[in-house]
Amino acid sequence: MIEEGSKRGKAMVEKRQLFMEMRAQNFDVIRLSTYRTACKLRFVQKRCNLHLVDVWNMIEAFRDNGLNTLDHNAEINVSRLETILSSIYYQLNKRLPTTHQINVEQSIGLLLNFMVATYDSESHGKLTVFSMKAMLATMCGGKIVDKLRYIFSQISDSSGVMVFAKFDQFLREVLKLPTAVFEGPSFGYTEHSVRTCFPQQKKIMLNTFLDVLMADPPPQCLVWLPLMHRLANVENVFHPVECSYCRSESMMGFRYRCQQCHGYQLCQSCFWRGHANGPHSNQHQMKEHSSWKSPAKKLSHAISKSLGCVPIGEPPHPVFPEQAERPQELTHTAWCHFEGAIRVTSLKDDQTSLAVTHSGCQFFLTQDSVGFGFPPISGNNRGQSLNQTTDVIVLESPSRLDEEHRLIARYAARLAAEAGNSTQQCPPTDLSFNFDANKQQRQLIAELENKNREILQEIQRLRLEHEQASQPTPEKAQQNPTLLTELRLLRHRKDELERRMSALQESRRELMVQLEGLMRLLKDEEQKQAVSCP
Ligand SMILES: [Zn+2]
Ligand SMILES: [Zn+2]
Repeated sequence: MIEEGSKRGKAMVEKRQLFMEMRAQNFDVIRLSTYRTACKLRFVQKRCNLHLVDVWNMIEAFRDNGLNTLDHNAEINVSRLETILSSIYYQLNKRLPTTHQINVEQSIGLLLNFMVATYDSESHGKLTVFSMKAMLATMCGGKIVDKLRYIFSQISDSSGVMVFAKFDQFLREVLKLPTAVFEGPSFGYTEHSVRTCFPQQKKIMLNTFLDVLMADPPPQCLVWLPLMHRLANVENVFHPVECSYCRSESMMGFRYRCQQCHGYQLCQSCFWRGHANGPHSNQHQMKEHSSWKSPAKKLSHAISKSLGCVPIGEPPHPVFPEQAERPQELTHTAWCHFEGAIRVTSLKDDQTSLAVTHSGCQFFLTQDSVGFGFPPISGNNRGQSLNQTTDVIVLESPSRLDEEHRLIARYAARLAAEAGNSTQQCPPTDLSFNFDANKQQRQLIAELENKNREILQEIQRLRLEHEQASQPTPEKAQQNPTLLTELRLLRHRKDELERRMSALQESRRELMVQLEGLMRLLKDEEQKQAVSCP
């Protein structure tokens, strides 16, 4: 008890500190509950430094801490939670440049207190694994589509169909967040919450799930969630216009333009507080802008639009359809593995990667998933390209990532095919099949984890190089032509490094998606086995 107490004390964070700081921000004067809730949660997110932890790093932390093997309803106590949070923040500091380190102890203290207040209101000293995962995956940084993909992986069955009861459980957990910041009356959980998201009880697959949760407008109970992401995206957007109410000339964030009064524009602070002056009233319809276009730019856009150069009506979520299909496809391929019904034939252009041996394939995957210098899929010059990888830096275009993704999928399919064959050769007893399948899965997971570690090391190395490349230039260099050339080269190198780092990060994300899918399959399979052989 004493030890526990002193440990808590070390964090030097008073239990109510976060809430007191939040109150000092005076968010309650915002008259629209959606904005109020999003602002409050964004405040909590930033104050706890969760916005710096990408959702993929969060998922990795869950895995590193063994949460994947635990049942969603399993309970973890506060001191284990503290350990998990500290591993998240220490890892974060490792990724951050030395000049931008966060105060780990303070962040742990703030977040721990917030989580306990939110999820352990009756002070049992325990939280469920699922509430922890749902909370951290919602409140961390990263794209909303990635978060939703992860959440879907947690609430769907192994054939990729959402389990309504699990979605209900997710809502129950995630809606404790608005409740924790005193917005329960607008966004608290009710037993009708699920129905408001999915009125019809039909099969919900990943794409439909994303469609619904990322729709405009999103389901009423979750409307604050995409807004929180939009808030984060516009935080540093500057509009060179004067606010018609407060006359401030440094408008940051959202900008609101009245649809009735000509040239009447408000900054977000004035609009959210319901300010209005002159002939304008806060009953007028306002349009929200998250960027600023100069009149000249607008004109050229209008002209090219009328000439048919720009597609009319942009899709609401440009990245989403492509992204959404990936995990599904992966789950599908891996799923075949267990079914024994190998649908590898549906991947028609697979000869090259399937023709190589298992280990060759692994190597191929290893090289390719780093994302540079791999041959076109139809090509047969693999060995050649491997030699080039050290100096060729080809960077990811979306289609390249797609190819890479397809390669990973094919690799999984290849393993599936092997598992299928081996079961055909030996007498097909369920046990040996499961055993083989599990072994293969574990192997694949281990390989992917190794790959992930390699990529992390590579990123670390690149980051160091990058930091060196971005050192400030000494004054003398400005005159010396040789130094200037070197400097230019260095800058060029720096840009290259930056691009390569982001390409590597992207590859890691894909690996993570796959790992998640595999882990889930493995767990499902183990549960099935446990049920079948008591
Ligand atoms: Zn203003
Ligand atoms: Zn007006």
